[in-house]
Amino acid sequence: MADEKTKTEQLRERLMNEPKGAKALSKEDIAAADEFCEGYKKFLNASPVEREAVRYTLCEAEKRGFVPFDPDADYKPGDRVYYINRGKAIALAVIGKNGVKNGARLAIAHIDSPRIDLKPNPLYEANNLALFKTHYYGGLKKYQWTAIPLTLRGVIVKRDGSSVDVSWGDEPDESCFCVTDLLPHLAQEQAAKPMAKAFTGEDLNVLAGSRPYPDAEDEKELVKLNVMAILNEKYGITEADFLSAELCLTPSFKAKDIGFDRSMIGGYGHDDKVCAYPAIMAAFDAEVPEQTCITYLTDKEEIGSDGNTGMQSDFLRYFIYDLACRDGVEGYRAVSQSTCLSADVNAAFDPTYASAFEAKNSCYINGGVVISKYTGHGGKYDTSDASAEYMGKIRRLLEDNNIQWQIGELGRVDLGGGGTIAKYVANMNVDVIDLGVPVLSMHAPFEIVSKTDVYMAYRAFSEFFKAE
Ligand code: MN
Ligand code: MN
Repeated sequence: MADEKTKTEQLRERLMNEPKGAKALSKEDIAAADEFCEGYKKFLNASPVEREAVRYTLCEAEKRGFVPFDPDADYKPGDRVYYINRGKAIALAVIGKNGVKNGARLAIAHIDSPRIDLKPNPLYEANNLALFKTHYYGGLKKYQWTAIPLTLRGVIVKRDGSSVDVSWGDEPDESCFCVTDLLPHLAQEQAAKPMAKAFTGEDLNVLAGSRPYPDAEDEKELVKLNVMAILNEKYGITEADFLSAELCLTPSFKAKDIGFDRSMIGGYGHDDKVCAYPAIMAAFDAEVPEQTCITYLTDKEEIGSDGNTGMQSDFLRYFIYDLACRDGVEGYRAVSQSTCLSADVNAAFDPTYASAFEAKNSCYINGGVVISKYTGHGGKYDTSDASAEYMGKIRRLLEDNNIQWQIGELGRVDLGGGGTIAKYVANMNVDVIDLGVPVLSMHAPFEIVSKTDVYMAYRAFSEFFKAE
């Protein structure tokens, strides 16, 4: 009798929505998550910026039978293709039994992350130090990027048209770079300023050298000259080649488990590689799906998705048109019948900053994959608010497959806000909802996620691709 639930308890269980939380996870789920995240950490470490994420994804995809997409080729169910947009975005498609006649299944994540870009004329000398001028990329709290080791990475296109890849700072025996900060002893004026003014964009200058060029006949800018001599020797570039380059700085440190229980991962660029990786793995797992499944990794989300590698470009739409063409359907019909999971992160509730959140509608570390019905700001501006019908469909999919999930709104109403690529996909006349992983310290150089949440995202994309 002692175990029997009272009528009220039974009624409560039947009628009330009590999130089960991490306690509901099985030992098997936790073990599978830990294993899955070993692969994720490798991907994260290899993919700080979009070009590297594309290269790593391509390499893994080729190992699993993906071949370059040929618009004129014939494909049969189960065939696997990739389609790369200018080296910065990549689509992985597994052809379905119905092709795209009933639309495609889309999982779209972004592979750019907040960082510090070099300006076109970056290098200068001041007080016998060589420094880079920078322009930050995406929304970042500038002070977080001072006094941490940074790696220079990217590509330089030379005057003769040849290009050279740059990566300097990641290896243990390599030097790295740094933005300096003011010592607390002399920071009284700085400390009294509002945060936005205490450290400005033009203060994000990167230390790049301090020794003068040896055996010089004059004194003019010898530290800068020495840096150029080193770069010329290593990459064959001159200062003018910075004008046709994409170079940026990202943290030099690698991903690391967090906590005594190793339940979390700290690393740079979880937003949004933590959704990209599960979506990639779901594409790898898709064998012969009903509808053609496409994992698309896009660029430029952190700066508004503009440009030809961002989600506002027609690249993905034209890819679906090409697939539709060989299936004998109009491209717009294939697009209009497609459904999408916009795979992006949300802010996990942080007890230290509890007042920034509304506890009942926030997502939590270890709460599972998070669905954001809408994002935006100031009264649901600038967002795609997914329909109850589509939300219901995705909810059913998750619950039928025993995938731990939670709902999440980005912070409390009118505090700020943010957006994802969902609204651009919705504008293509596609049903779309945001589904991803909760993140602590989002947009910081070292962000935190939970391993089981990453795994649940993978399971969600896999089931979405498998569904009829
Ligand atoms: Mn994101
Ligand atoms: Mn972001």
